[in-house]
Amino acid sequence: MTQTTNLTNYIIAITAVFWVIFSVFSLPVYAVGYPQFPDSRKSLIESAIDFHIHSSPDVIPRRLDDFEVAKLAARAKMKAVVLKNHFGSTAARAVLVNKIVPKIEVFGGVVLNHSVGGMNRAAVEAMHRIGGKYGKVVWLPTVDADCHLRVFHKPGIGIKVAENGKILPETEAVLQIVARENLVLETGHICPEEVMAVVARAKLLNIQNILITHAMADVPGLSLKNMQTAAQMGAFLELAFVNDLMGEKAADKGHKNWHHVSIERMAAAIKLIGAEHFVLSTDLGRKPDPLPAEGYKIFVEKLIGEGISQREIDLMMIENPAHLLGI
Ligand SMILES: [Zn+2]
Repeated sequence: MTQTTNLTNYIIAITAVFWVIFSVFSLPVYAVGYPQFPDSRKSLIESAIDFHIHSSPDVIPRRLDDFEVAKLAARAKMKAVVLKNHFGSTAARAVLVNKIVPKIEVFGGVVLNHSVGGMNRAAVEAMHRIGGKYGKVVWLPTVDADCHLRVFHKPGIGIKVAENGKILPETEAVLQIVARENLVLETGHICPEEVMAVVARAKLLNIQNILITHAMADVPGLSLKNMQTAAQMGAFLELAFVNDLMGEKAADKGHKNWHHVSIERMAAAIKLIGAEHFVLSTDLGRKPDPLPAEGYKIFVEKLIGEGISQREIDLMMIENPAHLLGI
């Protein structure tokens, strides 16, 4: 009898100890004095959209494949990502990733470089028809743009989209499809005068979604005045974190001949032109660089450190890109 009572008391005591431990750890964090966000960086990019990620398969070695990019973004509670590839359409890839990875939307598109026939309307039609809702973005030429080759002293025949302030007929044909299908027009690595001609024509064609690709990078190399004018015409301006990693000290060899664009300069542009005109992205994917979701967190932290408010971050990281993608 005594032995049973002892055992019962023992069980009660053990249960009580476990109950106390469990209760303390299951209390709301504020009740036990833990910081409200134990991992503050984790919350920084919740609902964010990254409009510019490079993944494998690719010609250039990449840190992650499409599936890994999507899984990492979903884990960081991001809302959507856009996969970019300089050499082939990512529309079909995006469709497949959406089937496999839940809790995130993955968009694709086509960059109009030589590998898809340059300013080739058929490539745009195919991208859109294959991708449906997820075949959304048309980039004007990047690494094969005439401007890109001239700025980086590379050989070869580059692709022009406008001359003497007027867009070329093949550019017109591409813009017509973008307008008809309500796609997103990105300017790629063309020069400032081409950007201005394209934005002006796109506006006349009633294109709703225009994004100036990494507006402050060597290409397109827009001045603040150009950026302001493009914004007034309704174009959004992309700020890419990778540009802060470029320059002589770049971890990636291929990024050493680009100029470093400091976060301080990006923040100054936001303060001058207004966050309502900007879209944040990482443009990450190179092997020595941070993972896209990690880089995005660092980018947001640094912008906040330069005096950009949370409201401004939300506009550039969530609302403006969602508006462009129609989500
Ligand atoms: Zn890129």
